[in-house]
Amino acid sequence: MTAQTVETEDLATVIGLEVHVQLETETKIFCGCSTDPSDDPNTNTCPVCLGLPGALPVVNEAAVEAAVKVGKAIDATIPEETTFHRKNYYYPDLPKNFQITQYDDPICQDGELAFSVEGERRSVEIRRAHLEEDPGSLQHVGGGIDTADYTLVDYNRAGTPLMEVVTEPDFRSPGEVRAFLAADEIDESTLDDADPNRTEVKNISSHRGAEKALAYEETRQKNAIKRGRAVEQETRHWDESKGVTLSMRSKEEEKDYRYFREADLPPLRVADWKERLEIPELPDARRKRFREEYGLSAEAASKLTSTKEVADFFENVASEFDADLAATWVADELLGELNYRDMQITDVADRFDAIERLVELVATDEITTKNARETVLRGMLDDGDTPDEIVEREGLGKTSGDAVRDAVEAAIDENPDAVSDYHDGEDGAINFLVGQVMQKTGGSADPGDVNQRLREELEG
Ligand code: ZN
Ligand code: MN
Repeated sequence: MTAQTVETEDLATVIGLEVHVQLETETKIFCGCSTDPSDDPNTNTCPVCLGLPGALPVVNEAAVEAAVKVGKAIDATIPEETTFHRKNYYYPDLPKNFQITQYDDPICQDGELAFSVEGERRSVEIRRAHLEEDPGSLQHVGGGIDTADYTLVDYNRAGTPLMEVVTEPDFRSPGEVRAFLAADEIDESTLDDADPNRTEVKNISSHRGAEKALAYEETRQKNAIKRGRAVEQETRHWDESKGVTLSMRSKEEEKDYRYFREADLPPLRVADWKERLEIPELPDARRKRFREEYGLSAEAASKLTSTKEVADFFENVASEFDADLAATWVADELLGELNYRDMQITDVADRFDAIERLVELVATDEITTKNARETVLRGMLDDGDTPDEIVEREGLGKTSGDAVRDAVEAAIDENPDAVSDYHDGEDGAINFLVGQVMQKTGGSADPGDVNQRLREELEG
């Protein structure tokens, strides 16, 4: 870009991500050390993950399986054979002075991930996702990365399995990035780049942090271009506490890393793993299935697949009752009341049976929808009572047929004027009589049912 001044309105934001996802294995990727993050510093180490001379790595099968499952989830190509490479660089948290990673034949290639942003479906292409080892962790004491008095290093994390997921530069705003990160439940992310001179931002550790760092970069780069300055190709550090990015170093190029094959690890043949390994149904597929199988609206299907727990509970309820009723009670009534109380579905996981009983009371017409919603559900959430306790205590059970018939007869006997008004064709008379019956039954009769019974009785 050569223009001295550029209208920032003409500039498009282009963001790609390299996201590091920690794989949840019991042990590290190339040795048997525990990955438990709660252990004391430098206790989960061995000659392999400390990079001692002569120590040889062995691949953790569980990490490879997890990577293949990620590949299936993003519909990636998984090659017949995949290999490991050494990425050479010096850093205090990297005891071998190289990181074992993958280079030209990563385990997952050309995938795709769908997500929702402001109610719209978007899909981002995944260029590659490869396996690698995490470095150790540094703890800066007495200041930040540039001001600390000294720095401690913990090698417990060194060798924890990671997948680095690299997207195509398909994002157009920091908000999209945040929505994408939420969709994949990815824990940690590290980068954006904006061509032609890409800027990489590191040390981002939350979805919110990613959005903030990217918004900061968007403004910083637009301002630089507006003033006729070039955007440097460099690596910048995201300072969460100050809310700014700071220049760390000029961006490494691939050749700086002197990639070469990790000769201590033979090629991995993973061709048939994709068929062998099963993955759970993903939220997007489930959302689609909910629409088709249960005939739900797009909005209801989205709400009901917002978390796995919500989706599982809905399917449980829908297996016993009408799907529309189940959708209304889970998506609207239950989630609405939970949201109002700042609660999550997981907060009521031990009360699913009671909530299903409430739906049953509505489904079998034993209580009115209004009472179920306003008295029973709220009482259950606020006081922890069971639906039957609340129905009993508040006298909400719909009055049985006999009692309604008695009340209808009594209302007719006691109100001859209203009866003759009805026969004279006065509209208000029937409503008056319905009111009388409702009063006699303590409001627990169904008004539509009462109306019909009165008419039958008066016409008969
Ligand atoms: Zn180890
Ligand atoms: Mn990486």
